[in-house]
Amino acid sequence: MGQISDYAIATLGSHTALQILKGAKDEGFKTICVCQKDQARVYESYGVADELIVIDSYDQYFGVEHRLLDQKAIMIPHGSFVSYLGWERVQDIEVMHYGSKGILEWESDRVKEREWLKAAGLKLPRIFKTPEEIDCPVIIKFHGAKGGKGYFIANTTEEFYERIKDYPGEEGYVIQEYIVGVPIYSHFFYSPINDELEIMSFDKRYESNADSIGRIASKDQLDANIRTSYTITGNIPIVIRESLLPKVFEMGDNVIRESRKLTNFKDGKPLTKGLYGSFCLEAIVDPELNFNVFEISARIVAGTNPYTNGSPYTWLRYNEPMSTGRRIARDIKQAIESDRLEEVLG
Ligand code: ATP
Repeated sequence: MGQISDYAIATLGSHTALQILKGAKDEGFKTICVCQKDQARVYESYGVADELIVIDSYDQYFGVEHRLLDQKAIMIPHGSFVSYLGWERVQDIEVMHYGSKGILEWESDRVKEREWLKAAGLKLPRIFKTPEEIDCPVIIKFHGAKGGKGYFIANTTEEFYERIKDYPGEEGYVIQEYIVGVPIYSHFFYSPINDELEIMSFDKRYESNADSIGRIASKDQLDANIRTSYTITGNIPIVIRESLLPKVFEMGDNVIRESRKLTNFKDGKPLTKGLYGSFCLEAIVDPELNFNVFEISARIVAGTNPYTNGSPYTWLRYNEPMSTGRRIARDIKQAIESDRLEEVLG
C-alpha cells in the first residue's frame, strides 16, 4: 500500500493556494508553495506551507521544478496556474499533475468549450455570428479580456457599431445573448476513485463596477458615462433553493459523461482522460429557473474560497470541515493508499 509520507502536495502561491495547502496539511501531507516574492508574506503569515520556494516571477517556474520532482510533489493546478503558464506550457510540466491536462485545452478555447457544453445538453446563451443578427441585449466579450474588464453591452446593431468604436484594433470577440438573471457558480467535485459526483458549494462574484452601478441613480449613471466592467474583487457565498439541486446534479453528470468523449493528443498519445476533480459551471439563472451556462472551469475556482472550513453542503456529507482543497487532498490520499494514484494524475 502506498503511503502519503512519500509525497508532497504543491501549488503556486495565488488564487486558491491557501485552502489547497491547508486542506493538504489537514489530510497529513507535506506542503510546498511556489510563489512570487511579492506574495510570499501571505503564505508565511498563514503557515500553510511547510516549504516556500520563492521566485521573482512565474516565468522562472521551470527553473525550480526539479525541487518539486525531488520531493515527489503532486501539483494542484488552479486558475492562476493555468493563466500564468498557459495551457500549452502546462502540458510540458514534468511534476505529477492532479487532474486531466488535456481537458484544459477544451476549457481554454471558447469554441471547443461550447461544443462540449452543447453536447452535454446544457442551455447556453445564443451566439450571434455577425452584429447584423443582434435582436436582443448582447454582451460583447473580447478574447483574452482579463477579468471581464473590456466587456460591453449593446441592445441593437447600431449600438454595437457605436460602442465598438471605443475598442480600435480589437478583432477577436464574441457577441453573446445577455441573459437577465442572477449569476450562480456551481462548484462540483467528481472522484474517479469512488465514481461519485458531489456538489461542494455555490458562489457569485463581487465585481467592480458592475456591483456598484446600482448604488447611484440611473440619471447619474448616464451623466457620468459609466461603462460596466466586471473586474473580480472577491466571491460571495450562496445557498440555492433545494429544489434546484437535482438540476445541478444532472448538469454535472452530463458534462462529465461528455468529457470522456473529448479527444486531443500530444506526440500521438491521448491527453484527455475526461473531467475529474474540482470543476465549476458558471451560469445565469433566469426567472424561469433555467441555468444559462456561459462557461466551465475544469479545475478549482476561487469561488470555493469562502469555504475554507467547509460549506453548508459539505457539512451535510462529511460532518467535518471539508474545503474543496481538502477534498482534492483526500482524493489523492485515497488514490495513493489504494495504489491507484495514476488514475488521478493527468
Ligand atoms: P473568467 O475569468 O472566468 O474567464 P471572464 O472575466 O472571462 O471570466 P465572464 O465570467 O465570462 O468573464 O463574465 C464576466 C461577468 O459577465 C460575470 O459577472 C458574468 O456573470 C457576466 N456574464 C457573462 N456572460 C453573460 C451573459 N451571457 N449574460 C449575462 N451576464 C453574463
